[in-house]
Amino acid sequence: MRANTKSQGTLRFAVVDGVAPSIRRIAVGILLLLLMVAGCTHHDSITPQETFSGEEAYHWIIAQCELGYRTPGSEAHRQVGDLIVEQLRTLGWQTREQRFTYRDTPIRNLLAWQGEGPAVLLGAHYDTRPSADEEDPDVPVMGANDGASGVAVLLELARVLDAPSTGQRVYLAFFDAEDSGGLDGWDWIVGSSHMAERWGEGGEPPLKAVVVVDMIGDRDLQIHYEYHSDVELQESIWRVADDLGYGDSIIPTYKYAILDDHIPFLRRGIPAVVMIDFDYPYWHTTQDTPDKVAPQSLEAVGRTLQVWLESR
Ligand SMILES: [Zn+2]
Repeated sequence: MRANTKSQGTLRFAVVDGVAPSIRRIAVGILLLLLMVAGCTHHDSITPQETFSGEEAYHWIIAQCELGYRTPGSEAHRQVGDLIVEQLRTLGWQTREQRFTYRDTPIRNLLAWQGEGPAVLLGAHYDTRPSADEEDPDVPVMGANDGASGVAVLLELARVLDAPSTGQRVYLAFFDAEDSGGLDGWDWIVGSSHMAERWGEGGEPPLKAVVVVDMIGDRDLQIHYEYHSDVELQESIWRVADDLGYGDSIIPTYKYAILDDHIPFLRRGIPAVVMIDFDYPYWHTTQDTPDKVAPQSLEAVGRTLQVWLESR
């Protein structure tokens, strides 16, 4: 592209040679401009590093919630799964779906990967809870924070990460059926349990680390250490957050023990962590809507994970 632009500019210059100096100056200007444009293009192509954007991530909150309640077995649930896979493929990630049936309901985990080397997995659940049982059990949860926020962070990471350059195999996992626990005899963390128990059967390399993100979009973000999580892994991530200036919202003190999608991996002896803000007043209510989620919160978590991954 650069060579073409240059010859085109030279041609222009030759054509106007010998005419009035002012016209020649314009021609020289055009030539320089074309060379500058070519130069910029070249420069951009050798600096591909992108930075995680909270605003970009927030668009994925809206896109998911616009589909409706993403409860297992529903049409909106199928659509959000398709949307995630389509976006990952567009961004050049390899993808695989893991389908099974649980209590007569079709369940689908989604997995994407890039790069070669030691394997690390970032995961989030994409299903939403069929009952807002902390408030009105007859209405489902919209899940702007509880469901959509983790997915939004992973999809924006899929855009900005250059996994091959990190020397790692990076997996992005979108777990199904995390959030129907205690309803109609359903368990919690059904999708992640299925994936963790079968990890390696399809030739996947052993995982060095698993990081689950869940409910990380609250405007008033407070992500504490979680008691089940791997201590060393947890400290390494929280340290990056502090280095980036997020120490007020990604806080290195213990607060809760949470049953979440990191547990099945811990059960298999894999170091795993959950990043979760459990101080969210709209948890499992009808009020878990996009206005409760802030781009800055998504950005704090996303940038922390991007820098943590790229500096490993
Ligand atoms: Zn939930």
